[in-house]
Amino acid sequence: MIVMDVLIVGSLAYDSLETPLGSREDELGGSASYGGFSAAFHNRRNGGKGIGLVGVVGEDFKSEHLDWYIQSGLAIDGIEVNQGETFRWKGSYHGTMAEAVTHETHLNVFENFQPKVPSSHTNPTVLMCANLPPSLQSSVILQTDVGRVSILDSMNLWINIANDELRDVITKVDLLILNDAEVRMLASDENLIRAAKAVLEMKKGGILVVKRGEHGVLALHPEGFISMPSYPTLELTDPTGCGDSFAGAMAQILSQGSGDISRQELAEALVHATVTASFTIENFGTERIRNLSVEEYEKRLSEYRLITNTS
Ligand code: AMP
Repeated sequence: MIVMDVLIVGSLAYDSLETPLGSREDELGGSASYGGFSAAFHNRRNGGKGIGLVGVVGEDFKSEHLDWYIQSGLAIDGIEVNQGETFRWKGSYHGTMAEAVTHETHLNVFENFQPKVPSSHTNPTVLMCANLPPSLQSSVILQTDVGRVSILDSMNLWINIANDELRDVITKVDLLILNDAEVRMLASDENLIRAAKAVLEMKKGGILVVKRGEHGVLALHPEGFISMPSYPTLELTDPTGCGDSFAGAMAQILSQGSGDISRQELAEALVHATVTASFTIENFGTERIRNLSVEEYEKRLSEYRLITNTS
């Protein structure tokens, strides 16, 4: 049996995107693609044991895109190719691009998907349930015996249409990641701190990481709060996948430790998550995160540590 550092289940998608800087049709996306490329980058950077993907694509999925996963070092034996079309999402961003406006979501092959975790991947150090219907996230949690930490991400759609399932699945993971709007929505409270505490109560403890877009990140850890700014970027082109690459980086960094996650270790993972996500948004789709070099990453990491006094 191979012990994967990180197993990621999530959407593998073709996105149609519109931002004030341009538009793209059928761009490779999905929460598992962004999370996977980001975790794979860190796996290469720190010599980890490997990252696996679990998900489904349709017959229209280009073999070139499977090659992109393989070239990044991602294990794809957990990806099924099923009859029908690949998941599609159409979204746009306006003004400060703080939030995506969803125009269309076509689950397609995800509609009848029953995730099957390959027997060689059932013992990951970290399980990352990227954004997906909560029932599918639950199914993967049931099939795995996680070595260190299970992480779950979600979105407003599931808060709206699968609220009970979502409230159930968040109690089964160690670490929940949401953005500020989702936290306010789930708790039905406009006060972010109060809402975050209410979500953590709903979750019955553990860690909550609240992504706050250009305002950075707020985390609630049993040892206390963490607050960090975003990297001050001038090149915001397409925010798609920012949250997923943030989560993928955090998952891979946490897979390198052992025992309980201390507040200090979480803060260090959040530094990497923030710096990684700042690259994703500089170009459309996965291009920037896929082709990120260790050298340019280290440069920005040092710069961010100086800004935040976290060296
Ligand atoms: P984010 O990191 O939040 O910007 O995630 C963007 C990615 O999420 C896009 O590439 C979409 O394909 C994917 N996505 C959008 N809606 C959903 C959904 N309902 N379930 C799973 N993935 C989604």
